[in-house]
Amino acid sequence: MAKCSLCGAPAVAEVRYARLRLCREHFLEFVERKVERAVREHHMIRRGEKVVAAISGGKDSATLAGVLARLRERLGFGLVLAHIDLGIGEYSVRSRRASERLADELGLPLLVLSVEELLGDGVPRLAMKARRPACSVCGIVKRYLLNALAIEARADRVATGHNADDIAAYALKAFLTQNLEDLRKQKPATPSIEGLAVSRVKPLYSVYEKESYLYALLRGLPFYHEECPHARLTSLDFHLKEMINKLESRHPGIKLQLVRGLARNADRYPGEDWEPVPCRHCGLISYGGECSFCRLTSRVKGEPLGGKVRGKIRSLIEGSHI
Ligand code: SF4
Ligand code: ZN
Ligand code: ZN
Repeated sequence: MAKCSLCGAPAVAEVRYARLRLCREHFLEFVERKVERAVREHHMIRRGEKVVAAISGGKDSATLAGVLARLRERLGFGLVLAHIDLGIGEYSVRSRRASERLADELGLPLLVLSVEELLGDGVPRLAMKARRPACSVCGIVKRYLLNALAIEARADRVATGHNADDIAAYALKAFLTQNLEDLRKQKPATPSIEGLAVSRVKPLYSVYEKESYLYALLRGLPFYHEECPHARLTSLDFHLKEMINKLESRHPGIKLQLVRGLARNADRYPGEDWEPVPCRHCGLISYGGECSFCRLTSRVKGEPLGGKVRGKIRSLIEGSHI
C-alpha cells in the first residue's frame, strides 16, 4: 500500500502536481494550508470582519464552511452560513436539509432564504414565466439575494465555494467566446462598493474539485451528492472541465498554473464599460439604473421586487440575531 510522503502512514490521496502521497491527516492539513495561503495572499478576509459563506448543500460548500470554520479563530473573523432554497423540487429539499445538517455539525448560525417564500415562485416557474433558461434566472436571483443578505447583515464579505475546476472552465469559456470582462470576474476577491455591493471572495479558488470532495468526505461533513436537474452534461462548461482534466492528467499542475496566473493577472483584462450606480427601485448595485433582479421581477411579477425583498430579508435577520 502506498505510504504518506510526510509520515509513512497509509496514503489516502496522491497529489501529482506536488509529487506527494498523503495520509488522511496530512491531506486535510494540505487543503487547509492551501486555503489559508489563498486567503492571506489575496487579502480575502481581514481580522475583525464578518463573513457570510454561501452554501448550496453540495461538497464544495461543505468544504468551504468546514475550512473557514477552522481558520476563523486563527485569522480572527466572524462566520455565518447562508443557504438559498431555490424551490427546485426534491433537489432543493435535500440541499436545504444537507445545509442545515452542516450548520449543526459545525455549530454555525445559518440563514435560509426561500425563493418561493420571497417571490411566490421557485426558480423553474420564474424561468418559465420569463422564458429564459433556468440557470440564467437562477444566477440573477442567487447573486441578488446573497448580496442583499450581506448588505442587510452588515457583512464585509460573501464567500462562495467556487473551486479551481469551476474557475478554469469559466476562464477558458471566457477566452473562447472572447468575453474578456468575464476573465476579470474570476478574481479571487472583488472589492465592496459602499452601500451597493459586498465584496465576493473565493477561498477555494486553488483547490481542485476532487480535493474538495475528498476533504468533505474525510472530515465527515454532511453534503448532498446529486446534481441539480437543470445542470446539463452536454453544456460547454461540462466539456471544458473534462478537457482541462484530461490535460491535467498529462501535465499535472496545469490547472493550478491557470487559476493562479488568472488571480495575478485578472486586473489586466477589461472591466465593465459602465460605472455601478444604485438601482432606482431597490438601491443595490446596477449598471444603468435598474438591477437585473428588479428587471426580472418587473417582467414576471409585474413590479420590481428588490425593495420589498430587501425589507423581508431585513426582518429575517433581525429575528435571527445574526
Ligand atoms: Fe441554478 Fe442551474 Fe445551478 Fe441548477 S444548475 S442550481 S438551476 S444555476
Ligand atoms: Zn502523513
Ligand atoms: Zn433593484
